[in-house]
Amino acid sequence: MQSDQLANKAARVHHLLREHYGEPQRRRSLDPLSELVLTILSQNTSDVNSGRAFDALRQRFPVWEDVMQADTQQVADAIRMGGLSQIKAPRIQAILRQLDVERGQLSLDFLNDMTVEQAREYLTALHGVGPKTAACVLLFSLNKPAFPVDTHVHRVGRRIGLFPLNATPEKASALLEELVPEASYYSFHVLLIWHGRRICKASAPRCEVCPVKAECNYYWELVEAEESLKS
Ligand code: SF4
Repeated sequence: MQSDQLANKAARVHHLLREHYGEPQRRRSLDPLSELVLTILSQNTSDVNSGRAFDALRQRFPVWEDVMQADTQQVADAIRMGGLSQIKAPRIQAILRQLDVERGQLSLDFLNDMTVEQAREYLTALHGVGPKTAACVLLFSLNKPAFPVDTHVHRVGRRIGLFPLNATPEKASALLEELVPEASYYSFHVLLIWHGRRICKASAPRCEVCPVKAECNYYWELVEAEESLKS
């Protein structure tokens, strides 16, 4: 499919999802360092658990200097409800120490003055920060044009045919950034996640009630397979 046809398809899917679920409202915006820590805490767990872990961390250590200097086990204990605390605690502390050494302050506010590519490069050079985590910080906190691709966006986008089946999440993110208008990144990203959680589930997509089935490659392949079985 040509890129303008794909862009039109993406726009139609976005429209249908918005009609079905409503327009997502932006959640409270955090400063970029807080957003980065929250996103690290969200890896491999639910938003509810990562939000609780983040709040517990801030309550136990009100300033980032305290987190950086604390015993790692104490940090792990504070974020335990977010899961993988033995990995996430040293990862967060390492980033804080790196910022302290390189910048002399525990803040990522300087990213505001960078281009999206410079900021992305800086973030992904931090240990344990991948393209999706970086894109979350860019989009949610810095309000820069980046399209995070998590497991839901990746699965739903591949099934619908917004990008090739073999596209990695990183490649899918780059393709979506080309296809979708920047002003729609946030809304479309959130709607694809909602859709992945509620209808286009990993193990059993509920195609019969899906509002975007007319646009979905996976759905039409199912229909064709059923028809060929009948004939
Ligand atoms: S038709 Fe099925 S596979 Fe396609 S987006 Fe909807 S639920 Fe997912």
